[in-house]
Amino acid sequence: MTDLKQLWENSLVEIEPSISRANFATWFKNTFILKEEGGVIYVSAPSGFVKEWLSNKYHKLILKSLRNLSEEVRNVEYVVAPKGGRRGTSLAEDLSENKKNFVIGELPLKDLYNINKEDNLNPKYSFETFVVGPFNETSYAAAQAIIKELGAYNPLFIYGGTGLGKTHLIQAIGNEIKKLDESKKIYYVTSEKFLLDFINSVQQNKISSFKEKYRTFDVLIMDDVQYLAGKSGTQDELHHLINTALEGNKQIIFSSDKHYNYIPELEDRLRSRFGAGMMVDIEEPDLESRIAILRTKAKNRNFSPSDEVIDFIAKSVTGSIRELEGILNSIVCQSQLKNRELSVTEISTLIKNNEKVKRAVTAEDVIKIVSGFYNLSKDIICEKTRKKEIVKPRQVIMYLLREDFSVSYPSIGQKLGGRDHTTVIHSCEKVKNDLKKDSILVQELEQIRALL
Ligand code: ADP
Ligand code: MG
Repeated sequence: MTDLKQLWENSLVEIEPSISRANFATWFKNTFILKEEGGVIYVSAPSGFVKEWLSNKYHKLILKSLRNLSEEVRNVEYVVAPKGGRRGTSLAEDLSENKKNFVIGELPLKDLYNINKEDNLNPKYSFETFVVGPFNETSYAAAQAIIKELGAYNPLFIYGGTGLGKTHLIQAIGNEIKKLDESKKIYYVTSEKFLLDFINSVQQNKISSFKEKYRTFDVLIMDDVQYLAGKSGTQDELHHLINTALEGNKQIIFSSDKHYNYIPELEDRLRSRFGAGMMVDIEEPDLESRIAILRTKAKNRNFSPSDEVIDFIAKSVTGSIRELEGILNSIVCQSQLKNRELSVTEISTLIKNNEKVKRAVTAEDVIKIVSGFYNLSKDIICEKTRKKEIVKPRQVIMYLLREDFSVSYPSIGQKLGGRDHTTVIHSCEKVKNDLKKDSILVQELEQIRALL
């Protein structure tokens, strides 16, 4: 089974040939992955000096090699090894030491390797780890009905705010069906990927193989269908696909961050197709459910906080399940580093800091900070101009929103004056390529990132 230790070793194998032997030995000795959180890999360096070098000189290389190994890696952060660090030990010793000390940090990353290439399902999303409460019980019941009898509700449309468990639930459905009957062909796809697939197939004259591919599945799971807003060509195709699926008694499952009535620019016939199936929602979890979720997650990580602590977190963090998880992760990591339980006061500070971070990084802030950096007004950035001095900052904004904040291509386009997602993709790729040869741009990005 691959884990953080393995990941780092594999990426060092890639990094080593790209730099001189002396440099490799100097800068990568005694480094290891401390933890992974939400796609961010924390690389630990033995000293502040090495940390600076790694992040200034080798960041691109490190990020690239980690990304090659795991698609879910979003970014890399550098930290100095915790006190009692392992100066002078060998890399292997470091790594095994690391393994001992940070078993918990390892767990999430194992998942990254397990995503099935054929059906895109991630086995970590199972019903075993899915907490059911009043907030999601209708969705859960509908899911169970489908698993029992494919086509029972068709299509099944699950909607709810971000971080409330839509992806987890629809992937768990796929995983469960697969477990019960291996011969079933299941396919999980985000609507963005579906859109790209469709556009590519049109451009390459391969529309019939596109149709063929999507018609072979027994169960098609499409996540975040709200991104198809305004994409009438793709909506047409999806409409045909639903029709064929219904005729062939194949199951389709959708998720969306809002009810289909509130998805703008959605064709009426698609709306009525959605409406003809089953519509269920997931709400924000109530206090009891938040407590149950925290307990389950803590247990999965071999972490046993007191009832008082669980209660305190559940009462203070009232938003999404993703937030609950995030806070719990920080608490687990901090108490690992400190080698003791955190006090309620410490936890309270952690939660407050987390809220600050959240407030600081909205897409609007990124736009404001980057425009400010290039001495431009926010409004000019969104205008439809091709002037070079405006195009570049705009591309930088797109790149940062995508790379550092995982904002989807379509919504980046929307936030920047209603641009097409393809434009956004091109812009991000342009910046990525420029970064390979333009050292000024590299510096600018470093400076901007420091402002965010
Ligand atoms: P969404 O797709 O609605 O944005 P996700 O499915 O990605 O949300 O869920 C966010 C995080 O919360 C995931 O890590 C997921 O495993 C976890 N989660 C969501 N719902 C539950 C649940 N009912 N029980 C346990 N964990 C959950
Ligand atoms: Mg999701």
